[in-house]
Amino acid sequence: MTRQKKIFLSESEMPKQWYNLAPDLPTPMNPPLGPGGKPLSPEQLAPVFPMNLIEQEVSQQRWIDIPDEVRQILLQWRPSPLIRAYELEEALGTPAKIYYKNEGVSPAGSHKPNTAVPQAWYNKQFGIKKLTTETGAGQWGTALAYACSQIGLECKVYMVRVSFDQKPFRKLIMRTYGSRCIASPSPETNIGREILAKTPDTPGSLGIAISEAIEEAVSDPNGETRYSLGSVLNHVMLHQTIIGLEAKKQLAIAGIKKPDVIIACCGGGSNFAGLTFPFMADKINGADIQIIGVEPFSCPTLTKAPFVYDHGDVAQMTPMLPMYSLGHKFVAAPIHAGGLRYHGMAPLVSAALRDKLMEAVAIHQSECFEAGLLFARTEGIVPAPETTHAIAATIREAKKAKEEGKEKVILFNFSGHGLMDLLGYEKYMDGQLSDYEYPDDYIKANLEAIKDFPMPK
Ligand SMILES: *Cc1c(COP(=O)(O)O)cnc(C)c1O
Repeated sequence: MTRQKKIFLSESEMPKQWYNLAPDLPTPMNPPLGPGGKPLSPEQLAPVFPMNLIEQEVSQQRWIDIPDEVRQILLQWRPSPLIRAYELEEALGTPAKIYYKNEGVSPAGSHKPNTAVPQAWYNKQFGIKKLTTETGAGQWGTALAYACSQIGLECKVYMVRVSFDQKPFRKLIMRTYGSRCIASPSPETNIGREILAKTPDTPGSLGIAISEAIEEAVSDPNGETRYSLGSVLNHVMLHQTIIGLEAKKQLAIAGIKKPDVIIACCGGGSNFAGLTFPFMADKINGADIQIIGVEPFSCPTLTKAPFVYDHGDVAQMTPMLPMYSLGHKFVAAPIHAGGLRYHGMAPLVSAALRDKLMEAVAIHQSECFEAGLLFARTEGIVPAPETTHAIAATIREAKKAKEEGKEKVILFNFSGHGLMDLLGYEKYMDGQLSDYEYPDDYIKANLEAIKDFPMPK
């Protein structure tokens, strides 16, 4: 009998509800705080997000229906395949069974459309005509541009100047989907004009791009523009749980009762939450599952930062969120996994770490690219630099299983393909890549700036 490489679900088996971890957490979530350190009311968020998404953001309902029209669009690539990494297992000589959920099959090439589509849909339902957002490396901008083309919304993406110049293909995909992608800082907002007047040659930053996108959304005189965020927030984690819910059904088809180890990389936390939260529910109910979040050594939010209240952006325009944070002024080294360079972590993922439902590991980028090359040359798919972090941790666990002689089941999230990120691979193969580790003093200095902020429980 030939062995089964991929496990597919039929379209009718795609989940009809998302799973919300919030009501199942052992310790309740701390609320976001507004100006003056007071808990934020939903109305205060209304100029930025539509009320139907704000309701999801604060929801304590365990299961939330996925609207039929959203399911229709997700069917363009979902259910995504669960793949057994036989070739990687053989290369490692491990007795472990390695499975991965391939989120690289989406139109944007990553998990991000799983939330871009429902976000665009809920905005349209609410009567919104246009979405604004920021993008660093371009993955989130691509996902939202795709979603807006499907739903029929105008979309404007502020792309960090340095990436805008270095990654011409990302902005071309956004244009192909009918979105406008402009370099940030731009002359189209007050904050952009101010910054350009002072520093015309600035490379820009995610913080500046966020500020511009929010400014444009809240200053629409017709009130028909809103802002959209690709990770970190509770409703984004919720939309991504379709990944883990599918994986559960697929593992059952493969005859596996439960995975022993689950691994995903962590930037803002959404692909990690998406794969692991449905299994975390089982862990809360007593299942023995090890859940590992992987981050770059150069941006050690989960492994070195404290659990605090902090802003999501440099300009302190966002509310304060309860999260592990390196401080909103922290600037991560220019590693190639651009999606993992965020200073904070999703409040839900932070709560899971605080409650010891997960553990975290930090890995240097050279080990990650080495893992990426091995994966490409065995399983045949080139992973995104972000995804190579999950692969490197998987390889460590598979080697451990070999030493212990244990036939463990390891499941990891293949968050995206790397066909748009080959410059990082080129640097690694040319031996031009360096590893970064911050001195403890730099980390301490950034935390100084938030030492008087309120503390979460
Ligand atoms: C954006 C991105 C990430 C990091 O974001 P999370 O919200 O932590 O998932 C990881 N992998 C890929 C391929 C991405 O595009």
